[in-house]
Amino acid sequence: MDLPSHALWTYVLEKAVAPEFIKTHRPFLFFSLLFAAFPDLITDAPYFIAILCSKNKLGLKSLKEVLNFAYDLNHNRSLEYEALFPWSARLGFFSHSFGVYFFIAIILNFACPLLFWPFVIGYGSHLLIDVPLHRGYFSSQPFYPFSQLTIPGWKDWYHIRNFQKYNYLLLAVCFIILITINHGL
Ligand SMILES: [Zn+2]
Repeated sequence: MDLPSHALWTYVLEKAVAPEFIKTHRPFLFFSLLFAAFPDLITDAPYFIAILCSKNKLGLKSLKEVLNFAYDLNHNRSLEYEALFPWSARLGFFSHSFGVYFFIAIILNFACPLLFWPFVIGYGSHLLIDVPLHRGYFSSQPFYPFSQLTIPGWKDWYHIRNFQKYNYLLLAVCFIILITINHGL
């Protein structure tokens, strides 16, 4: 699932389960949505900057070409992606590891309890949603880097026909329902 969708679905989930809590605890909302984007953000941002820095070497002329190359490489050409940006692939497995997630949650529980629940819910929802929506190279490796065990998901979301169309349509329907029920967001 794309990065904004992770934050938007987390918002829908929180608003549906605990609307009053969300209304009165804005920092919780902010940080949980930030953490919902985190696993992809910390992988995609350096990956994109690395391509931008070597755009001449890669023969890319415009920002549009850089974006298209970045998307195509890690969505459709995983072997080349692994060969050109091995650190980015590792960073992605690391940021999507349930082992790393539990480890950070324990640290936050002691070091910064205020961020514990936003992290557990935001980051956790991202990892759970990604499990069925990645297969093959990007299948979830829950215990990375300690184990290479993978959970083969259903299908990579970007290879599902019209996925984005239905995803955003469903999000729009959920938002309309939530706005109607709660008289606003
Ligand atoms: Zn992800």
